[in-house]
Amino acid sequence: MPDATATSRGLLLIISGPSGVGKTTIAHRVERALDAVFSISVTTRAPGPGDRPGVDYHFISEDEFAARRDAGDLLEWAQVFGHHYGTPRQPVEECLAAGRVMILEIDVQGAIQVKSRLPEAFALFILPPSEQVLLDRLRHRRRDDEAAIQRRFAKAKEEIARAKASGIYDAFIVNDDLERAVQEAIDRVQAELRRRQA
Ligand code: 5GP
Repeated sequence: MPDATATSRGLLLIISGPSGVGKTTIAHRVERALDAVFSISVTTRAPGPGDRPGVDYHFISEDEFAARRDAGDLLEWAQVFGHHYGTPRQPVEECLAAGRVMILEIDVQGAIQVKSRLPEAFALFILPPSEQVLLDRLRHRRRDDEAAIQRRFAKAKEEIARAKASGIYDAFIVNDDLERAVQEAIDRVQAELRRRQA
């Protein structure tokens, strides 16, 4: 399959981080600041109350997911909390071919796949200031019951350890203060864009 991403002029930006760390907010602020495009993942999980179908995710069935994966339609995919998530390949290729910044908000498993296929992808990982702060934030979201919060917390600690061990992240950004973390993410991406233009 021809791979437009391999010769593209744009920048593929991966943003990962554990649940509750504020990565979605940071990713959307980077999107606005850099006039970037946000990749809309496909997922087999059910839409939650705050989810806008077709905007936050494309919600699809397990059968459709398997068909798209097997057809090579997904740039990467992973199973998270028992559900499948994947990045549609075509919008990424189109966006990069047009020279834009494309943001993938994906987990570490997905980021490893993308980096192995497209080593020129730039990857940021958002860290909480501490484990206790992360646990407090997961509780404050009021999205889950205590058992689910504990599962997310355990998974978050595992995700951080896996990210550090993977060696694929170009920078780790601590979200101690949202404005500062957003600015650091923007600065890092702009520095990378300048480096590539030089
Ligand atoms: P949530 O269900 O809370 O929206 O997302 C759960 C996790 O799945 C998050 O860590 C999120 O970054 C990750 N995720 C969302 N979309 C994708 C995707 O397309 N690929 C991969 N690998 N992970 C994803």
